Amino acid sequence: MSPWMAPIMWEGTFNRDILNAQYRQKNSVVGVATFAVKKYVRFIEGFLGSANKFFLSGHRVNFYLFTDHPEKVPSMKLAPEKHLFIIPVQNYSRWQDISMNCMDIISNHIRSHWRYEVDYLYSMDIDVQMFEHIGVEIIDTLVGTISSWQYTKPRDSNSYERRPESRAAIPSGEGDFYYAASFYGGSVSEVYKLTTACFKGVTEDRANGIEAKWHEESHLNKYLLYHKPTRLLSPEYYWDEELPIPPIIKVKRLSSVRKDLKEVRF
Ligand code: UDP
Ligand code: MN
Repeated sequence: MSPWMAPIMWEGTFNRDILNAQYRQKNSVVGVATFAVKKYVRFIEGFLGSANKFFLSGHRVNFYLFTDHPEKVPSMKLAPEKHLFIIPVQNYSRWQDISMNCMDIISNHIRSHWRYEVDYLYSMDIDVQMFEHIGVEIIDTLVGTISSWQYTKPRDSNSYERRPESRAAIPSGEGDFYYAASFYGGSVSEVYKLTTACFKGVTEDRANGIEAKWHEESHLNKYLLYHKPTRLLSPEYYWDEELPIPPIIKVKRLSSVRKDLKEVRF
């Protein structure tokens, strides 16, 4: 448990059969928002293929894929309870702007569509692959994933934005965990509040000529410090492929796909 008594999901801490039986009674629909802009279209097949198999297997999931290349989305046969919606978006020349605008696109889309269509919403990077089940243990009101890079570090060495001029600033000595922007979610209304607040921070920083250290991730960390997640996902749920796997990680459920940053972002 976190110090505010939110459960932290690790392999061995829950019984999936019990959780599945409880969850089925709610008849919920989960939405997954993911972006594949410019060269990131190459990750669609690996993401969807593995998510079809391992993400909320047996439960209703709508994948919402935002892309500037709808014609490049491979046609894939998904399980009957899974649906794919392709939504065209414009691209931005800077990769930082692509990920920072995701928060704005998500909050607008919640207002126009998702609040009528889904109960829970999760935002996930597209450049990932799932290897093991990610089930209903991820479902809660406000959910953050602990970064695989920073789960053992003392708070003051985490890469929070510390410059007070940024709206993402976290004062020195403060901070709980360092959360990865690659996987967060919760109820539609909580994700609406989160994405709206984070994008407001991004916009105010832009007006003040400052960009937070880790872009939208810095704003997410600020938000989750002052709006505590009701559930946390351990680094099993977003493992960085660059890192060797320590004994504490019993199951690698999802990990980033290795990419040549210079090549893929430009
Ligand atoms: N993204 C994209 N096209 C880009 C850059 C980013 O579609 O040119 C999206 C994509 O969904 C990606 C997410 O933004 O998974 C976050 O960017 P990235 O994965 O490069 O960040 P990292 O995980 O390396 O911090
Ligand atoms: Mn990524």
